[in-house]
Amino acid sequence: MNNGEKGRLFVISGPSGAGKSTLVARLLERLDNVYFSVSATTREPRHGETDGKDYFFVSHDKFREMIAGGELLEYAEYVGNYYGTPAGPCDEMLSRGRDVILDIETQGAAQVMKLRPDAISMFIFPKSFEQLEERLRLRKTDSEKKILARLAQARIECRRAEMYKYIIINDRVETAADEAEAVITAEKCRTVNRLHYLTGD
Ligand code: ADP
Ligand code: 5GP
Repeated sequence: MNNGEKGRLFVISGPSGAGKSTLVARLLERLDNVYFSVSATTREPRHGETDGKDYFFVSHDKFREMIAGGELLEYAEYVGNYYGTPAGPCDEMLSRGRDVILDIETQGAAQVMKLRPDAISMFIFPKSFEQLEERLRLRKTDSEKKILARLAQARIECRRAEMYKYIIINDRVETAADEAEAVITAEKCRTVNRLHYLTGD
């Protein structure tokens, strides 16, 4: 049930290892009526990742077809692979009044903010670069070469943090989830989303 309220588009970015997937999983547990947009990517699945749930794992040819067919709301290259947001499911959920969360990197986020100026953006960062590096290493999903590439990319992404509306610090995950949930709740209470209760429209 959404009481006739419009769905809101939330964009979450932050360097690899900041805790975006962990945070999004917490938010999905806590919040009703939220849809996580499953991206398409050309990267290989990590151990434990499921096709269609974590990502749609596609070939480079298939990804190019999706671009050519106008199927993607945004896309970007990130550390040697392509990532993109399928537009169809995202728009369908928004039109049904569901809130939609995108976990995307900063170039794609900039495209979304241009196309959808009412999107609400959050940049996630641990309490320091040291904590970021430690988490990337502890995750044990990437080779040393990939970790160094992701850390270099992190410096670039952090320079773009100012374009986001909110910054969430992920030191303790429950505190980070409290912060992100507070943003989502406050945004839903904006007058523009609530006036219809008063006017009956
Ligand atoms: P991202 O999706 O941003 O790349 P992940 O959610 O995969 O990051 O988190 C990176 C690693 O850090 C994972 O091993 C995850 O379990 C761990 N992690 C995430 N948030 C926290 C936290 N608040 N405290 C400790 N470890 C965390
Ligand atoms: P990972 O390989 O760690 O899952 O993701 C690498 C980066 O790609 C992360 O910053 C993540 O937010 C981003 N990403 C995931 N899906 C998309 C997408 O659909 N579009 C864009 N632009 N970035 C994405």
